Order: sequence, then C-alpha cells, then structure tokens
Amino acid sequence: MAQRIEAYSYEGICELMKEWGQPRFRAKQLVQWLYQKGVDSYDEMSNLPASLKERLEEEASLKRATVVDKQVSKDGTRKYIVQFSDGAAAEMVAIPSQDRLTVCFSTQVGCSMGCIFCATGKEGFTRNLLPGEMLDQIIIAQKDMGMRVTNLVGMGQGEPFLNYDNVLAAMRLANSPDGLNIGARKITISTCGILSGIRKFAGEPEQFTMAVSLHSAVQKSRDVLMPSMVHQTLKDLKQDIRAYQEESGRRVTYEYVMIDGLNDDDGHLWALVDFCRGTICHVNLIPINEIEGSVLQPSRESTVNRFLKELEKRGIEATLRQSRGSDIAGACGQLKNLRR
Ligand code: SAH
Ligand code: SF4
Repeated sequence: MAQRIEAYSYEGICELMKEWGQPRFRAKQLVQWLYQKGVDSYDEMSNLPASLKERLEEEASLKRATVVDKQVSKDGTRKYIVQFSDGAAAEMVAIPSQDRLTVCFSTQVGCSMGCIFCATGKEGFTRNLLPGEMLDQIIIAQKDMGMRVTNLVGMGQGEPFLNYDNVLAAMRLANSPDGLNIGARKITISTCGILSGIRKFAGEPEQFTMAVSLHSAVQKSRDVLMPSMVHQTLKDLKQDIRAYQEESGRRVTYEYVMIDGLNDDDGHLWALVDFCRGTICHVNLIPINEIEGSVLQPSRESTVNRFLKELEKRGIEATLRQSRGSDIAGACGQLKNLRR
C-alpha cells in the first residue's frame, strides 16, 4: 500500500475508500478537499469522520509541496521552485495573459533524455513525480496568483511519457470537476516522442492535447539534438502520430526549437514541411533560449520568419512561441533542478 495520498489517482482513492468500508461519496469529498479546496492537512477536512482522518494520517499521509523560491518577471510570469517532502525540488512557471492563467508544470525531477539544448536534460534524472505532487504545483500557482488556472502544459522538467500512469492520473485529477476542473482540451502534454506513450495516449477517452517535440525532421540532426532518441526513426514516429490521429481524431502540435546553424537551413525546412504532410498539425517554432554553459544560439529572426512564411504558404499552421519570463530564466528548457 502506498504510504502517501499523493500517490493515488482518483480511481485509486475510490478503491481505497471502498476497501476501508467507507460510503461511496467519501472519495469525492476527499478529492475535493485535496485538489479543489487544496487544504494542507486532514484536520481541515471538516466533513470527514475523525476515525477516517486518523487512518489516513497513518496510512496515506498528506505532505504538501512547499515553495522554496519564487521569482517574478517584468511581464508578470512567475517561476517557482517547489520542494517535495523528500527534499527533491522541481520548477514550475505560471504565465498570466488577460483572462488566462497557464501553468507549465514538471512531471519528473530532472530528465533522463539529455537533449543537448535543454537545461533539465543537463541535470540528469532524479525521480518521477507523483500525481499529487503535480497537482500541488498547480494549486500553488493558483493560490499565489489569486486566479483560477485555465490552461495546463506539461512542459516543465521531465519526460511525461516515462512517468505515464502518474501523469495521466494527474491530468485526470486536474480535469475532474471535483479536482481543478480544467477542460481536457486545455491540458497539453508534451513528449519528446516516446512511441509506447503515444500509442497508449491515443486510446485515452479524454480530449487532452498532445505536443510532440520534433526539433528536426532530419534523422541525423535529430539524433544529435536528442541523443536518447537515436534508436527511433522519424518514419516510425510519423507512423505512430498518424495512428494516434486516426484513433483519437485530435490535432497534434509539433514543437520545433530553432537553433542557429543546426536545424534551421532549407534542408531542414523542407524536411519539416514533408513531415507535416499527412498529419493534422500545428507547428510551434521556438527560437532557443540560451542556457548556461552552452554555445547554442537561437536562429536569426529572418530565418524564423522564413520558416513561418513557407509553412503557412503550404497550408501548415505555424506560430512563433513568444518567450515569457526570460528575464527570470523561466522560459522553456531553462528549468533546472535545485537540490538543497
Ligand atoms: N520532455 C518533454 C516535455 C518537457 S520539455 C519534451 O521534451 O517534450 C518542453 C519543451 O521545452 C520542449 O519542446 C523542449 O524542446 C523545450 N525546450 C527545451 N529546452 C529549450 C530551450 N533551451 N529553449 C527553448 N525551448 C526549450
Ligand atoms: Fe527531457 Fe524534454 Fe529536456 Fe529533452 S527537452 S531533456 S525530453 S525535458
């Protein structure tokens, strides 16, 4: 049995309550306290019987993540370092825009994939995050910003599909009306292209959004940029994305970091156009954020504009991702672990 309530999915909480002989509505009450109201202790859960609270304390304790550092950008973006009960820490970013609040959350502490342009990749892997630890990040942002989180992106630290079950459990709790009640379409998960995960995700009933970090449609340079993906061909990746679309009917976003001289010449442009053909997609071009100790530079503005124009000319929807919070190193790929 798990020792912490954070480890449970909604379903798991239902099973636990059933096992403990509790009435059916108990799981709903517990989930509401944990993730809708976001209280810090079982003591505060006023409609739960004292005996249940005691048992929960003993057998499935609640240990909320805490904020150990916070930085506020000129543009309103806030970056937090949250620490979990074992001392491991991960970063999370809250990005307000008009009536929206987007939270970019971490799914692992560190990442094992080692992409050469990514600060998280350079830090290595520490551990998977539990569903409740992912929800904690969102609740922290919501409380601190004083507004409801409307959009979620799993683009912080970690590769979500290497922590599939916990990530899906977190997405479901975030989507649930008893949890954070965020629309499924407004919850995006980003993968570097783990095929087993894409296949599994295709069968999930919710209309969650999937983004795939493509970064290059030329095998050779993708292998350089994402060394852990060398065993995987672009052909297989495309095949599985197409199968995903057929099964789910959902559009895919391709993320494409643009690095000067590495993946931004004409050969790469035409390969990208070719890769997009036959899939319903949206391309997100992201001039790379510079990271400490790296010589990689973002593509020139004229190159980025050329990519945008040529993709659009061919009927491929493309946008430039504006970097938010870059003055606090809160931009994508700049999220680092902090071990204290
Ligand atoms: N592991 C997942 C999700 C986390 S990374 C994935 O790779 O998709 C989320 C996004 O941040 C990815 O698209 C990644 O390419 C981007 N990113 C990483 N490093 C970056 C950098 N230095 N500048 C801009 N974006 C970066
Ligand atoms: Fe991991 Fe994504 Fe960074 Fe690659 S880009 S190292 S998969 S977090």
